[in-house]
Amino acid sequence: MSADLQELAKLLRDIDDQLVSCMKCGMCQAACPLFAETGREADVARGKIALLENLANEMIEDPKGVKDRLDKCLLCGSCAAACPSGVKVLDIFIKARAIITGYMGLSPAKKAIFRGMLQHPELFNNVVGVASKFQGLFTKPVNDMIGSSCARFMSPLIGDRHFQPLAKEPLHKKYGKVDTAAGKSGIKVALYPGCLVDKIFPRVGDAVMKILEHHGVGVYMPLKQACCGIPAISSGDKQTYDKLVKQNLEVFEKGDFDYLLTPCATCTSTIKKIWPLMAEDYEGALRNRVNLLSDKTMDVNAFLVDVLGVKGIAEPNATAKSITYHDPCHLKKSLGVAAQPRTLLHTNPGYELKEMSESDRCCGMGGSFNIQHYDLSEKIGGHKRDSILATKAQVLATGCPACMMQISDLLSHSDAQIAIKHPVEIYAETLP
Ligand code: SF4
Ligand code: SF4
Repeated sequence: MSADLQELAKLLRDIDDQLVSCMKCGMCQAACPLFAETGREADVARGKIALLENLANEMIEDPKGVKDRLDKCLLCGSCAAACPSGVKVLDIFIKARAIITGYMGLSPAKKAIFRGMLQHPELFNNVVGVASKFQGLFTKPVNDMIGSSCARFMSPLIGDRHFQPLAKEPLHKKYGKVDTAAGKSGIKVALYPGCLVDKIFPRVGDAVMKILEHHGVGVYMPLKQACCGIPAISSGDKQTYDKLVKQNLEVFEKGDFDYLLTPCATCTSTIKKIWPLMAEDYEGALRNRVNLLSDKTMDVNAFLVDVLGVKGIAEPNATAKSITYHDPCHLKKSLGVAAQPRTLLHTNPGYELKEMSESDRCCGMGGSFNIQHYDLSEKIGGHKRDSILATKAQVLATGCPACMMQISDLLSHSDAQIAIKHPVEIYAETLP
């Protein structure tokens, strides 16, 4: 057993108090994208809550069985958004994963990745930098419009995925440390691009920088930013997660800013929702520091529309491309941000928005769920792919780089000729 028994007992008591609010009504079944594929009660929130009600005993009898059932979930929050009793399903599942991982220990592979690499941002950056130089030996481009690649040879790691390659130059290398004064807006923000925008979609970061400069917003973007912690905490690795949070606090507390912006829905939702949740157990001063940064954190689409007052009033021109928008679970269901990205799409007369059916249906990514259950992830994503193709849109926009990755894979496998963009890119195209 790798975690302190007292800490595990405390987490067990925390979730016990939350479990009682589940009325077993089953309303979560209709919302769960996983249940829609498997039809298994064990996969939906109510089934997992029933398991957790007897967690201590189940853990002793069959810890691996408990872990497998808990891991089979996208942490998309669709069940929580649909629950009439307001059960804090994600809070419960995240703490439960920390308990079971604390009890069983972390797998050697995850230990190597999380503790050997993720905990050391400079090493992580160097490893990714080397990988980006040699990726062409092992991968080849497969769809120019989407910009996706696939493996050249059979690879257990990549499998049949069509993925976005690592950027030649990550955002942090291109800009270095940024610390500019607030201009005409009188506002200064900190920018937290997140791993995927930094290393795979730096063009999204370029768009954010261009927009902030246009509006006279000062930017603080420190070096040595660490991962937001979601891969570690969703695998139950609280030790790595705690270190990543502290590392980010240290680098951002050196700046003076009004908001911390991120163009990644997953990072925003982690910093705003999961950081304060997991900080409940921190000592007072550390808890306050977490809450202070979390309170300042905002999705970039919401900042542009709600704070800077960007308006989407452009009428599509005669040659406008059709564009459709996917609502990331972490943006709409977790943070309630859905109108603002669409407003940004309406700023550009070169695009005409065509809504897809079920635009907020989960794309099936789910972080490590995609790695552990790729077949199910693809099945869930199949509905998203069909909704996108049915619109005949030329461009797909979404506010989460993880969804951009998943949808690239889905569309590239269908040979679709659809460009994939972040709403900030669409708005940035309108600026000089
Ligand atoms: S989690 Fe919510 S929706 Fe699901 S059974 Fe419990 S009370 Fe009902
Ligand atoms: S978080 Fe998503 S996948 Fe997990 S139980 Fe809830 S609805 Fe199902």
